[in-house]
Amino acid sequence: MNLIPLPAFSDNYIWLLQHQGHALVVDPGKSEPVTTWLRENQHVLDCILVTHHHGDHTGGVEILQKQTGAKVYGPATESLPFDFHGLKQNDQVSWQGLNFSVLDVPGHTAGHIAYWTQPSAQDPLLFCGDTLFSGGCGRIFEGTPAQMLNSMDTLAMLPSATRVCCAHEYTLSNLKFAQAVEPHNQFLRDHVILCQQLRSKNLPTLPTQLALELKINPFLRSRQASVVQAVKAFAPHTANQDVDIFANLRAWKNEFK
Ligand code: ZN
Ligand code: FE
Repeated sequence: MNLIPLPAFSDNYIWLLQHQGHALVVDPGKSEPVTTWLRENQHVLDCILVTHHHGDHTGGVEILQKQTGAKVYGPATESLPFDFHGLKQNDQVSWQGLNFSVLDVPGHTAGHIAYWTQPSAQDPLLFCGDTLFSGGCGRIFEGTPAQMLNSMDTLAMLPSATRVCCAHEYTLSNLKFAQAVEPHNQFLRDHVILCQQLRSKNLPTLPTQLALELKINPFLRSRQASVVQAVKAFAPHTANQDVDIFANLRAWKNEFK
C-alpha cells in the first residue's frame, strides 16, 4: 500500500493510495492530476472518498466517476452534485482489503466526515479533509466551536502513530500562529525548521503524525496551561470553559497575520 499526495490548485493535496494496480483517491477537487497519474502509472481507479462538500474537494469527482466507474463515498448529511454512497459515524468502507472507519467531525462544514484505516504492517492513516491541519484546524464555517472542539477530541484519541493526511499545505502559516500561541514550545521550533527545509525544496510537509500534532498543534492543545494563558492574554474576557477558550483561539487565528 503506497500513499501519494497529488498537488492540486495552489495548496490542495488529493491523497492517492495505490495497491497492485488499483487506486483510491480522497477529495479530488480536480480530475486532471488523478487522470494523469493513472495514465502514467497504469492503475485503475476504483474508489473515491469525499470528506465534505466544498468545491476544492469535490470538483473532479463527477468526471472521474464517469471515466472510471469508481465507487464514490461521501458524508450522508451533505448534498453533493453527483451520485454517492452516504456515510456517517461507525460506517465502514472496504477497498483492496483495507477497512476504513468513518468518523463524524463536524465544524468546518456541518456534515464533515473523516476516514481512518489500519493497513497491515504500516502505520494507520487518517484522511481528515479540512478538519485538522498540521499545526492548525479548519475554519468553522457551518458548525460551532463546541462541535469543532469535539471533533478535535475525536481525532486526538486515535492511535498516536496515525499518519494524518490533511487536504491543504497550510503548515508554515499555521506554525507561525502556533508559535505566537506557544513561543516556548521546543517541538514547535524544531518542526518549523524541518518544514521550512521541506517547503524550500517544494516537498510536502504532510502527512504529519498525530503524536507530533499533539505536541505542536494549539487546536489539539487548547486545554494546556500555556495555550489557555495565551488565549486569555489575547482575549481577556474569555470564560474558563473549554469551549470558550477554543472559540477564542480559533477567533485569534482568523485575524492573525
Ligand atoms: Zn473545505
Ligand atoms: Fe479545502
